[in-house]
Amino acid sequence: MDQQIQQIYATLCRAWGPQHWWPAQSRFEVIVGAFLTQNTSWSNVELAMRQLRAAKVLSVSGIREIEITKLEKLIRSSGYFRQKAQRLKNFVRFLDASYRGSLTRMFSQSTDKLRQELLSLNGIGPETADSILLYAGQHSVFVVDAYTRRIATRHKIADDEASYDELRNIFERALEQISVPHTRGNFLPDGASHPPSRMSLAKRCSTAQVYNDMHGFMVGIGKNYCHKSQPDCEHCPLADLLPERRIPR
Ligand code: SF4
Repeated sequence: MDQQIQQIYATLCRAWGPQHWWPAQSRFEVIVGAFLTQNTSWSNVELAMRQLRAAKVLSVSGIREIEITKLEKLIRSSGYFRQKAQRLKNFVRFLDASYRGSLTRMFSQSTDKLRQELLSLNGIGPETADSILLYAGQHSVFVVDAYTRRIATRHKIADDEASYDELRNIFERALEQISVPHTRGNFLPDGASHPPSRMSLAKRCSTAQVYNDMHGFMVGIGKNYCHKSQPDCEHCPLADLLPERRIPR
């Protein structure tokens, strides 16, 4: 199982190179993006982020001070905008109450404790919590999404009943054995890659870098090949790694 995951990582490093997640200029932008991307496409999130930037409220103090109705209007394009505006406000309230408004203080907390705290907030499930930890805080936590689950099931890495944390542990155990990330070079980007950004180039340990790229790879495979129905195994870079080379239904 570990070997299968390591082969997937190595194959996609060779095929695609660095993915440059998360496309953001600051830690807070990553956090806002992690809330806004729930149940919507990234293009809708980008539109909302542009609105927040133009209104000069894409910061902790900006979200703290803006009236909620104005915030709702600015993020309307991301869908569920009332709920998401409330969640952003709740997050800043938590940051103020627990860490005196400082992201640096918050991310200095131990991974396990901060993960528990984030999960206790309304509207933060494991995928959002782990995205915040990995992409904004550079904590070594692997993000499991629906694409990862689908690929893991089809490649018989895990069964489809596996819980979020079981999958996370399976991927983390395999990937933490890779001591040197393979994706720091100059490859031609592909998959679900983004142009380099301040946050994609931020300093992080090698394990966090491996988790970062692997999650980007899973999204790239899921979006382009491993569709919910009729996966395009024929053209997928992972075709040779399919158990028994049998195309899944
Ligand atoms: S498209 Fe086929 S080969 Fe590619 S990840 Fe999905 S199941 Fe595997």
